[in-house]
Amino acid sequence: MSDSEPIVGGRVELQLLTTLKCNLKCSYCSLGVGEVLGSQADVEYDIEQLAAFVETHLQGKEVYVTFYGGEPTLNMKLMLEVMERFQRFRFQLQTNATLIHRLPDAALSRLSNVLASIDGGATTTDGYRGRGVYRRVIRNLQAVRGKIGGSITARVTWGNPDTGFEALNQLVDADSPFDYLYWQFVASDLYGGDSMARRKDVLVQLIDRFFSRSDVLYPVIPLMGIVRNKLFPNRARELCTGRTQCRVATHLLNVMPSGQIFPCPDMLYLPDMQMGDVQGNWLRASPLQASPDMPCQVCEAFSWCRGNCMKNLHLAYVRQDERYRSQVVEPICELIRFMGTEIDRRDPQAWFDRATVPVRRQLLDCEVYEYVEIMP
Ligand code: SF4
Ligand code: SF4
Repeated sequence: MSDSEPIVGGRVELQLLTTLKCNLKCSYCSLGVGEVLGSQADVEYDIEQLAAFVETHLQGKEVYVTFYGGEPTLNMKLMLEVMERFQRFRFQLQTNATLIHRLPDAALSRLSNVLASIDGGATTTDGYRGRGVYRRVIRNLQAVRGKIGGSITARVTWGNPDTGFEALNQLVDADSPFDYLYWQFVASDLYGGDSMARRKDVLVQLIDRFFSRSDVLYPVIPLMGIVRNKLFPNRARELCTGRTQCRVATHLLNVMPSGQIFPCPDMLYLPDMQMGDVQGNWLRASPLQASPDMPCQVCEAFSWCRGNCMKNLHLAYVRQDERYRSQVVEPICELIRFMGTEIDRRDPQAWFDRATVPVRRQLLDCEVYEYVEIMP
């Protein structure tokens, strides 16, 4: 396949922003940048136009749909229509989980994964999202747990430097509704003072916990992914053909309610990032690609990190936002390299050699790798 073909590889993630409305007001919401949030309440394309787009551009691909927003369940009608029309696709729901119990059982049973946003423990989650949200999310997920066809992944934006090991660990405790934990380091300037040292302290505890057992997997996606990538470097390359693992350079299509398509859901406010349109039925290759301006090629972490977040690197090194580079991107890269060093110190090869077959299988083939960025 040539580099100029719009989709690289055999998979496509169609991330449908069913609405840009949300029933919560999270203080750090990335859609707040450029005033995207709330700007498009209603979908402007219809299901026939979406079917024509799929027919024209996604023929022969393995397609999975992520329902995204705003809060996607606020437009349940579109979700159900898409599930009905595209029987062959896989489905994932990215949600704040406050309304998930309203989905019909038939829809819940078809979800391969639910990415439920939460910010760590009750204090932090309620601080960002509103009083009582943490308990409501856990209660709702426990209520629907048995009805969901696939897994539930806690999706944490790790913003608060006070977030401790216990708050993260309890999300994958035995009585938690979550099967996996995925976190991403927040993309704002919350890395000053002693906050780096405090985050490193928590990372060490998470990594120690990961390596404490090889008969049961500690289901924390960034740690699983880094260990997998270090031991089996081809796994880091195969799903994204050697490009960034967050899929923006190869096969992630974010469809706005207007039908406009962008590679990264955090860059919907930049017109030059548009790569297609459902109503106009066109698609081009993602404009969000690695560039020689980025420092990754000479970074010690590149073989397993593979560029982490292209949005961060693009803003810092291509658009040359110096403040963003020094306050956000460089601290995050430091944390990633720190994780790599700490993992190496615990001899991941020896750990894998001891691991049981189910642990090895999950580490290598966990389906959630296809749904999240893998790197934090
Ligand atoms: S740690 Fe940073 S510089 Fe290094 S490969 Fe990852 S994103 Fe690139
Ligand atoms: S990790 Fe990828 S999808 Fe997420 S914000 Fe960064 S570039 Fe966008």
